[in-house]
Amino acid sequence: MTFVYDFSEGTKEQTALLGGKGANLAEMTSLGLPVPNGFTITTEACIDYLAKEEELDTVLKKEIQLHISNLEQKTEKGFGNKNNPLLVSVRSGSKFSMPGMMDTILNLGLNDETVEALASKTSNGRFAYDCYRRLLQMFGDVVCGIDKNRFEDQLTFYKKKKGYLEDTDMTMEDWQYLVDVYKGVYQEVLHRPFPQDPIAQLFQAVEAVFRSWNNKRARTYRRLHQISDDLGTAVNIQEMVFGNSGFESGTGVAFTRNPATGERGIFGEFLLNAQGEDVVAGIRTPQPIEGLKQTMPDLYKEFEGIGKRLEAHYKDMQDIEFTIEDQKLYILQTRNGKRTAKASFNIAINLVEEGVLTKAEALQRITPLMITQLLHPVFDPKELDAAQVIAKGLPASPGAASGNVYFTAESAKAATLRGEKVILVRQETSPEDIEGMVVSEGIVTSRGGMTSHAAVVARGMGVCCVAGCEALQVDEFLEQIICGEHVFKAGDTLSVDGTTGTIYSGVIAMKQGNEQELLQKILGWAKEINQLKVYANAETPEDIKTALVLGADGIGLARTEHMFFGEDRISEMRKMILARDQRGLKAPLEKLKQYQKQDFRKIFQLMEGRPCTVRLLDPPLHEFLPRTGKEIEELAAASDRTPAQIRKRMNELEEQNPMLGHRGCRLAVSIPEIYEMQVRAIIETAVVVNQENKFETVPEIMIPLISTEEEMALLRNHLDKVIQEVLDGTQLEYKIGTMIETPRACLLADRIAQHADFFSFGTNDLTQLTFGFSRDDSGKFLGEYVDKKLLKDDPFQHLDEEGVGQLIKLAVTNIQKTAKQAKIGICGEVGGDPQSIRFLQQLPIDYVSCSPYRIPAALLTIAQGTKQ
Ligand code: PEP
Ligand code: MG
Repeated sequence: MTFVYDFSEGTKEQTALLGGKGANLAEMTSLGLPVPNGFTITTEACIDYLAKEEELDTVLKKEIQLHISNLEQKTEKGFGNKNNPLLVSVRSGSKFSMPGMMDTILNLGLNDETVEALASKTSNGRFAYDCYRRLLQMFGDVVCGIDKNRFEDQLTFYKKKKGYLEDTDMTMEDWQYLVDVYKGVYQEVLHRPFPQDPIAQLFQAVEAVFRSWNNKRARTYRRLHQISDDLGTAVNIQEMVFGNSGFESGTGVAFTRNPATGERGIFGEFLLNAQGEDVVAGIRTPQPIEGLKQTMPDLYKEFEGIGKRLEAHYKDMQDIEFTIEDQKLYILQTRNGKRTAKASFNIAINLVEEGVLTKAEALQRITPLMITQLLHPVFDPKELDAAQVIAKGLPASPGAASGNVYFTAESAKAATLRGEKVILVRQETSPEDIEGMVVSEGIVTSRGGMTSHAAVVARGMGVCCVAGCEALQVDEFLEQIICGEHVFKAGDTLSVDGTTGTIYSGVIAMKQGNEQELLQKILGWAKEINQLKVYANAETPEDIKTALVLGADGIGLARTEHMFFGEDRISEMRKMILARDQRGLKAPLEKLKQYQKQDFRKIFQLMEGRPCTVRLLDPPLHEFLPRTGKEIEELAAASDRTPAQIRKRMNELEEQNPMLGHRGCRLAVSIPEIYEMQVRAIIETAVVVNQENKFETVPEIMIPLISTEEEMALLRNHLDKVIQEVLDGTQLEYKIGTMIETPRACLLADRIAQHADFFSFGTNDLTQLTFGFSRDDSGKFLGEYVDKKLLKDDPFQHLDEEGVGQLIKLAVTNIQKTAKQAKIGICGEVGGDPQSIRFLQQLPIDYVSCSPYRIPAALLTIAQGTKQ
């Protein structure tokens, strides 16, 4: 097996083997772009190394040495050569980009001799020794596990002693001195010297990068982004080019379009006389790329041309890292650029308009998460006038949040556990802060640019972020911010607007985000492609209106029990439950019927003839009973029962396992009057609404929790009779169907299908009953199940494809044996979950139904999974 590939050998498709960075470096090399020479050690080598838990394999070592020889020939330099030394960078790069999560080592190949050669070659001893001390620092930290502060403290101490403010004040002699001090740190901590042999340095560095795949922050990042732990990282070894070799040199990061808005044109930042890490780590605040246009116009033009070429080649907006060494441009990396939700919509739309992408391709450029982010809240504009602006920084990641400020990942985590909303404030973030960033509503940094760690990670997570807010004096040690006359301590409230870059004091009310035009365009394209429809789980007029705006094609689940909880209604419901006999049921049921008719009227009018599935009463009756003594007293006063009688009735209704008890269709077997009332209300309303309007409502009446053919036959026949009685010859098309929520119903769906016009899988109950996991209580232990890999996911969030999914598959096949044309849908929570939809979409079903805000992401997911 080949473990090492030269950049001239790979292609952009090989991201699994070469990692994203390696594959793209190879692709750019074959496009003839100015990429420094190098090679990639594959992810397979990493997996092999991690599995064996030994030092590097000798075969791999040989391959690496061979490629180093090739590199020496190509560059006409020698590894460890005293006159013309080859220096390399060693960088991680996995299949999916994990910015800053794994390790990088630069300037490798420097030692006591080659540093002299570099100094004389560049006639810049200061630069050469600065490079050497950087290597000592990075190598110490990454490879040898020496605490970075051991080095940083020495530098700080030395600068203080000399009265220097900046690193730029350091002379060659100063760096030389510090190099000796750093070498002393190695001796002191490791009791051995820094390795002088470049090959030994390289092998150790490769091992360290392999190991960094499993460091804590990389693991956390993968868990968050659902990236498998089994992929491993590739290692890219590349000839060093120096952006820090003087003011004819520099480094930068640029996007081919604005990653915050999607606007056309190069958008980026650069720093003269700096190494890439300085920009990414946010140590110095870079300048906008327009500055480069002025200082090096030809080079800027060249870069612009390369950006255009790469964008056309990859058919997507690119995020490009470049370095200029003595007026020569090098491209160090390109990848599809991370972007805000708004930008992703604009870029997708623009690329279609520019003829680069088809609509279907453009939809692949947007993720379900981005849709969710587009729907994120913004501050209520009415409140903003009165809000107090504290400072302005860079609008690094859009959205808005208010919360209590905290200054470390630990305190942020602790505060969220106490139930607080957190704004994490730091001078700059580093990958160690990831766990604090994850739990925060918003992130603020006082240093760093739009491509700093904080900005990139926040955008990826969809958390709002203001970066480089230099007006804030952030003291992480004293845990306070000073900004003019304002002082904020841990726990004080701030509001952050990541779209404008503004920081406000106090809490500001939110409003839903509004990018309707972009959203509608994209949803329209998705609907042109989709065969699987998306319905809404909704019963209130507000929810239904929202669902329709967000693209619902019908209602898949109107839970009628939600209509019985209003103040007047619950009292009638309780009276009905307390009734001694059928006669006693009559009056409260009649009142409830009037309420139901009001509700159905609103629903049918809003839906204008689109499919409407109304589910008959489902929960056990005790859920409607009073809970407090006061409520019991009130009910006693409003009915002909005493509090003692009410308590007795409550005791009778109490069940050990209410979710497995007297609920759903089982209630209707005992008290048919409830469903009769509901069905009358549905049919009477549909008739009237249809008479008043041009559209035709075809109500779909759904019976929950059916397990046997006999239950279905009994209830269906009874309801048909009631409906015929109501219609009394009036024409109205209607359907009676069932939910499939029990494993038995799945197994015998062909028999049930003889009595049902349509089917909807209630995956919440079906999951509960398949696993025997209580849907209300299993949250307590499911987290542990997932952590211990007993389950891939919480099956209530993401469909359990292997178990519940197979039951659904079987049931669909069964249904089609006897009811080929019957409509089939999914209305449990997983109906709105993109991961589950990708599975469900493979089945011959007609729709998924979910809560309104999940509809757009569902529509997109379906479009993305539809074969063209
Ligand atoms: C279900 O069980 O999946 C369902 C949609 O019904 P409910 O959540 O109301 O029990
Ligand atoms: Mg259910």
